Amino acid sequence: ASGIAIKTEIVVIGAGQAGLSSAYHLRKRGLEPGRGFIVLDQSPQAGGAWQFRWPSLTLSTVNRIHDLPGLSFADTIDTAETQVEAAVAVPRYFAAYEQAFDLRVYRPVKVVAVCERAGRLRVETDRGNFSARGIINATGTWETPFIPDYPGRDRFRGRQLHTRDYRTADEFAGQHVVIVGAGISAIQLLNEISGVTSTTWVTRREPVFRDGSFTEEDGRAAVAMVEERVRHGLPPNSVVSVTGLRNTPAIEAMRARGVLKRLPMFAEITKDGVRWADGAFQRADVILWCTGFRSSLDHLAPLMLREPSGGITMTGRLATQVLKDPRVHLVGYGPSASTIGANRAGSAAAAELMGWLGLPEAAPH
Ligand code: FAD
Repeated sequence: ASGIAIKTEIVVIGAGQAGLSSAYHLRKRGLEPGRGFIVLDQSPQAGGAWQFRWPSLTLSTVNRIHDLPGLSFADTIDTAETQVEAAVAVPRYFAAYEQAFDLRVYRPVKVVAVCERAGRLRVETDRGNFSARGIINATGTWETPFIPDYPGRDRFRGRQLHTRDYRTADEFAGQHVVIVGAGISAIQLLNEISGVTSTTWVTRREPVFRDGSFTEEDGRAAVAMVEERVRHGLPPNSVVSVTGLRNTPAIEAMRARGVLKRLPMFAEITKDGVRWADGAFQRADVILWCTGFRSSLDHLAPLMLREPSGGITMTGRLATQVLKDPRVHLVGYGPSASTIGANRAGSAAAAELMGWLGLPEAAPH
């Protein structure tokens, strides 16, 4: 792309939890929103990926959404309303947040590539270009659903969809649904769909449900494991994948209904079902892949940040800084891929990147 690029010190790419936390801390340290730093987001409205979540994901069924720094979620919503959709409540909160701190998010603006240009970083978008000295990338995972390759995937005549396409269980009434995956989303959707129709649940490994509630110490241990990986240049596994599953009243109820019977992965997909290596067959109308997401980082490809292993070696206090190119921070990636992690990482990235670029810290605007 050519044309004049708007100059700024730092571009923040993405305005979910990670991008907003970063922007808040840049502003608090004295960079002026819209001039010293610019936030770009491709989504139509405030809320990050939360605006796209399925309607039955309510404030009572999410794990926990941590407050962004400086403004409490509870101030923007009646927290007694636990049935309210996350896809409604979080965008409302983020919109109020952007306003409260005057973060001036430019949207919808999709970053298509970031490349080196005369010692600066050129941020190319579908709405013009920006030239920055550093970037904080906070693009999450929602744009990059992952579906593993199994033989016969193209042969299947039924419907295949990924977690991100799910809206409501009712649309599957009368159909047999095969649900693939062992994460929290797989189990929540299995719970809902098995309430209206017949299901088969398949996972690669036998899921282990542990008793007792999830403690802060469990959380820290899980984050440390992911951090260790990215500091060694390995691709991150999701924080949730290492925290494991807990027995909850909802899980007990599923067990009692007999829907938590897990089968190993099938070996192939046929035109009308799935077949295991031993020849067993299950007819299916729908295959729902709850097989997770990958980090949405394709626009950074020109910077060649990846190692041969496919990972990106991270450094810095909370492992947000890219070792190969310290002008680039990744927030909401690896160990900070949770709402609480994204908060902390935004603070660390803002401080370190401003320090690296030699930007003076001034009184907030
Ligand atoms: P996002 O919220 O995905 O924001 C990224 C933003 O970047 C989006 O607005 C996107 O449009 C934009 N973007 C992407 N690519 C580009 C581009 N090229 N150019 C411009 N903009 C771009 N975590 C918890 O802590 N608690 C929970 O209860 C919880 N529940 C979850 C439930 C589900 C179903 C899923 C999938 C995840 C859940 N998580 C939860 C994890 C959660 O997604 C993260 O913790 C956090 O919300 C992610 O924030 P983020 O800012 O990194 O990404």
